[in-house]
Parts: sequence; structure tokens; C-alpha cells
Amino acid sequence: METITVGQLLEAVHGTLLGGSQDMELTVSGVDTDSRDIHPGSLFIPLVGERFDGHAYITSALEAGAAGCLTARVRTDYREDKFYIQVGNTERALRDLAAWYKNRFQIPFVGITGSVGKTTAKDMIAAVLSVKYKVLKTEGNFNNNIGLPLTLLRLDHTHQVGVLEMGMDKPGEIDYLSDIVRPEVGVITNIGDAHIEKLGSRENIFKAKCELLPNIRKEGGLVVLNADDPMLTTLRGNTPVQAVFCGKAENADYRAQVTGGDGVSHIHCHVTTPNMERDIRIPALGEHMIYPTLIAAAVGEHFGLTPDEIEDGIARFVPTRMRMNVIQREGEITILDDSYNANPQSMRAAISALADTHSSWKVAILGDMFELGPYAPALHAGVGDYLGKRGINCLVAVGKLSQNMAQGARDAGVPTVYFCPDKEAAKAVLPQVVRPDSTILVKASRGMALEELTAQLLTLC
Ligand code: ATP
Ligand code: MG
Repeated sequence: METITVGQLLEAVHGTLLGGSQDMELTVSGVDTDSRDIHPGSLFIPLVGERFDGHAYITSALEAGAAGCLTARVRTDYREDKFYIQVGNTERALRDLAAWYKNRFQIPFVGITGSVGKTTAKDMIAAVLSVKYKVLKTEGNFNNNIGLPLTLLRLDHTHQVGVLEMGMDKPGEIDYLSDIVRPEVGVITNIGDAHIEKLGSRENIFKAKCELLPNIRKEGGLVVLNADDPMLTTLRGNTPVQAVFCGKAENADYRAQVTGGDGVSHIHCHVTTPNMERDIRIPALGEHMIYPTLIAAAVGEHFGLTPDEIEDGIARFVPTRMRMNVIQREGEITILDDSYNANPQSMRAAISALADTHSSWKVAILGDMFELGPYAPALHAGVGDYLGKRGINCLVAVGKLSQNMAQGARDAGVPTVYFCPDKEAAKAVLPQVVRPDSTILVKASRGMALEELTAQLLTLC
């Protein structure tokens, strides 16, 4: 972050200076929200969550070197060498600060939302744009009302474009985030069942993602949509800015077909765009990888990259940790670690990638998918059914909800099915499922933390 004075902070967050230092020219050079990780000279913003209140850590944050803090509570103790700015709500103040700070930089932004594949699309877009520009991108999954403002506060004058992921689990959140960003290019990857418990229906999920549209800049704005998504295609001819569609459909503006791959490290596809037609090697597994590739091609063309530059950027793509990471043990087993998260759509995509490998023993270690509410039993059973359809040899179903997945898999003829109510039970069966030439997919919702099983697998080979 570039330095901000106390005077500017007061203006940005609409705050009032309390006791302590009254020096308006004092500066901060960063923002911290975790008192255990304070950078000297930073602004400490205490956030209030369901289980914690950051206000309890103001004193320790200042002792650790923060120059001052925001606070929603009036205090009785003030240090003369630190400043204290009172605001109504610290999370809102973080947002206001990010919006104010962002206006210092006249650069375009790309805002990405959708049910599945946001991080993957963000990483692919950033890989492509980085061939020509200095890019600020969301790190990991910092995509919510805290992560996104913190990402914007990392901007500096060397950045030429920002690529930002926007997540939501409630109506109004995408509006809140995209209103800060005001992207020149918006992306909606697809509409699926993720977070259906809180949103109630796919229509509501669709509406919530569409909150992005009015916040895209009208001048030169572009929205990139999925040509194979039945809900997103209803937006055809009905968007406030120019729209392009990506996918396998005949009428897609950016189209791709998978033509091959080695089942271990990459796939090949034939890509057609308004500006190019060529075979491209994507350094990742799964047919679903055509979507982030096409999205990145569309965004790359929008920002003036040549076909060679786009292809070069796609070759540089590296997935974020725990997203379809291929871990290979020479002559032994291959693990597809996709343990970061799961929902019905991404489960199918990952199972499809496992099915496409050349391994003779394909194992899926799959755990519960959360936030599906009353749809959970049927959606888990559906994943089991898909395992059978795709010829997977063995399922280890982990977690209570996954009992339905195990049943669905048995009904669909998966030859070997283990149901393990928890990870400990799963650890006990792992030695039985690992064989030479196994390819093993590990995937579940974040709350399952199934990467523990990946670690356990690695001790077995
Ligand atoms: P989150 O809501 O957790 O932020 P996300 O939308 O960022 O999720 P990713 O982390 O990019 O999603 O992808 C999660 C998994 O979904 C990937 O590892 C992959 O298995 C699968 N996936 C990625 N892109 C797609 C896609 N376009 N279609 C289907 N599955 C996909
Ligand atoms: Mg993500």
C-alpha cells in the first residue's frame, strides 16, 4: 500500500479523531486486521465476527507496532504516540477506505463471480494479462467483503490492471463488492447449486450473480458469460454492456473443444475466437478447463493481447493450492488434490477429470458437500450415480451426508465402495484402496479439510 495520512484516513472512512495523537500528517503504510500479524506503521482495523471482536486486541496491535487504529467503541485509555479514529462500523470503514484508495489509481479492473471456477478463472486471466501488464490479483480466495477491500489496499502505482474474485452467499453481496470495484470487464462463470441453502433456489442464485451487471462500467464495458449455462444464456441481447459468450455451444463467441491430453499434466483443445483459431495446450486437467481458458482469451483480447501472447499466458497458468493439484509419485500413485472445496458441479468436473486419466485403478475419496439444505441427500446421491456412469473403480465416501453418495455409487455399480462417517475411519481404509498405478481424487467442502487425507496418502507411498 502507498502511504496515507491520518487526515486522508478521516476523510476516507468518515471518521472522528478520538484521544491520543492529533497529528494529521502521521502516515500509515498498510492495513492489518489480525493483531498477531502486525506490520510496523500499519493501520489496525478491528473486525467484529460472530465468535470474536477485534476491539479486544487494539492494545496488543498498537504495542506490536501499528501506528493507530479504527474503532467503533469509545475508549478510556489512549497512547499519545498512536491515533484512534472512531467509525460507526469497522467493516464498512474498511470498504470505504478501499473504495477511496482505489480511486487514486486510474486502472481498469476485471471482476469475476459465478458458482464454480472463480479462482481458476481469476488465476487464468491474471496469467494471460501478466504477459503484457503488471497485474494485481486476488491472492488465494480473498473474495469477500473483507478479502476484496484488503486486496484493493495492496494496489500501487506500478499496477496496470486488477483481477478480482467476488464471492457471495447472500443476496446483495455481489452488488456491495462490485460497487467498490466498478469493473470494466465482468465475468460470470456459471450458475450452480453452491450456497443454495441460503439462497433458496437457482433463480435466486442467478439474480444474486446478476447484481454484477449494473456495476460494470458503461463506457467500453464488457461482460463475459458462459454459452453452455441455461440461465446465463437468457441474458443474450439483454445486458447493459456488450456481452460475449464462452463455451462448447455452436453459437459461442469463444468456442473450444477438447482434442486430447496426457491424463496427468495437460489437455489440448481447439479454440476459436473472433480473432484466432488454434490448438492450445492447457497445463491442467479436466474438460471444464476450457471455460477459464476461453474467459481468459476473451479478457486478453479485450485488453489488446495478441493470440501468441494469450497462448503464452495460458501456458503459464498455475492452479492455486488444493485446486486440482497433481501430485505424482514416480511409478506409484497419482493424487489429484482438489480438496479446497466442493459442490455438485465441481464434483462432476473433478470426477470427469479422474475418469479421463489412463490409470487402471481410479479411486475417488469424496467428502460431504455443505450448504445444500434439503437438496443435500439427492445431490450427494447424484454424485454417487455419476461415479458409476464414469466408470470409477472405487469410492471412499467420507462424512455423514456422504452416506447418500455411497448408496448412489452402489446403485450405479461402482465395484468398491467404502462409507466412512469421519476422517479417522477413512484413514483406516486408505491402505486398502491404494494400489500400484492408482489415480486418487481427493475432494470435499472446505469444512471437511480433506487435505489431511492427501497428507495421509503421501505417507503410504
Ligand atoms: P469458491 O466458491 O470456493 O471461491 P471458486 O468458484 O473460486 O470456489 P475454484 O476454486 O476455481 O472455484 O474451483 C473449484 C473446483 O471446481 C476446481 O478445483 C475444479 O475442480 C472445479 N472447477 C473449476 N472451474 C470449473 C468450471 N468452469 N466448471 C466446473 N468445475 C470447475
Ligand atoms: Mg474461489
